[in-house]
Amino acid sequence: MSAVIPIARDSGCADLPVLRERGQREVFCGLTGIIWLHRKIQDAFFLVVGSRTCAHLIQSAAGVMIFAEPRFATAIIDERDLAGIADANEELDRVVRRLLERRPDIRMLFLVGSCPSEVIKLDLSRAAERLTREFLPQVRVLNYSGSGIETTFTQGEDACLAALAPQLPAAGANDPASLLVVGCLPDVVEDQFARMFSAMGLPQVEFFPPRSSRSLPAIGPNTRFLLAQPFLTDTARALELRGARRIAAPFPFGVEGTTAWLQAAAETFAISADAFEQATLGARERATRALQRYRERLQDKRIFFFPDSQLEIPLARFLSRELGMQLDEVGTPYLHREHLRHELAWLPPGTQLSEGQDVEKQLDRCRALAPDLVVCGLGLANPLEAEGIATKWAIELVFSPVHGYEQAADLAELFARPLLRREKLTREVACS
Ligand code: SF4
Repeated sequence: MSAVIPIARDSGCADLPVLRERGQREVFCGLTGIIWLHRKIQDAFFLVVGSRTCAHLIQSAAGVMIFAEPRFATAIIDERDLAGIADANEELDRVVRRLLERRPDIRMLFLVGSCPSEVIKLDLSRAAERLTREFLPQVRVLNYSGSGIETTFTQGEDACLAALAPQLPAAGANDPASLLVVGCLPDVVEDQFARMFSAMGLPQVEFFPPRSSRSLPAIGPNTRFLLAQPFLTDTARALELRGARRIAAPFPFGVEGTTAWLQAAAETFAISADAFEQATLGARERATRALQRYRERLQDKRIFFFPDSQLEIPLARFLSRELGMQLDEVGTPYLHREHLRHELAWLPPGTQLSEGQDVEKQLDRCRALAPDLVVCGLGLANPLEAEGIATKWAIELVFSPVHGYEQAADLAELFARPLLRREKLTREVACS
């Protein structure tokens, strides 16, 4: 038996020209990442050091968590603290002490910076060092920025994991080779991948971030890591600084992306083509069959991506190659050519890529093209819907389990549903 899908290495599309825009943008800030990060690292707590606006964003984005004991909060640093930075630092220390007294289950505390000027003046890395000294070994205090000036919403995860990478225990040159899967995945998806790697015979596989801050994976020169998300530039750099090496691969969206991603790991660890086939064939065939009915619904529909989650390029590749959609424009907040090399090579020739945003100009292009479906942030979705254009909220694509074979059809469904809703609406209006 032979392995199925060669990873694209050959197309000239990796050199696609990119429209670069640096105007006004409509994207959530990196604080949003707390919503999925706190679910993953189950003994961590995220303390946003911010304003009332930050508190509102976090509370409304996390509304679903209302019945759970929250593992995030906002320390409001407002004008009252402008009297002196020393006061603000004392206030922050007081909030942290109170929190840790009340919540002895917290093992890792992230101080998350934001953009109000009062917060920018605070040195959160020094605060984290100071508080770590006070609370070690019970609690480790780290910091990163989720500020809207520095981050778009998925960059919050990147900043968090990059802050965590230096804390990983060191593996030595004589330790066995290991695979590290990097990027927050829902537990159910992580378990599926773990089973598949184990069925292939991969000796040691760990996930970063881990479910508990007490089980941080060791990392060293024999660690090879596989990115599960395309927005982890700083994290990848931080892991490389620890001696780990990235396995170049597309991202595990759709059947093709998942197969190539798994295959890249299998090749790195010299897993035989037979073992790979046996471990993946069943799930691959099920996913291919499940996608078939979505292909019938999505074939030739035109889609336009506004820049938002940095998932746009891998998703566009999946929609175009596996579901036959036409790509009107694929916008991304940042384009990391090296991490996206395989993905770019898989885009159809002539795909219009854009990086950054000038929202008014992009809206003009979108309206002129009148696509069937637009993927965008919440702020743009309502006005576009009012103009009769079907939209998909980019944030849902980050919150939902969408990686891997078992989720391939669910991912397609996320794009098919708004089109169906729009068709029904159009029919109802025509009949009334
Ligand atoms: Fe708004 Fe900045 Fe707070 Fe984000 S970090 S909610 S952009 S004030």
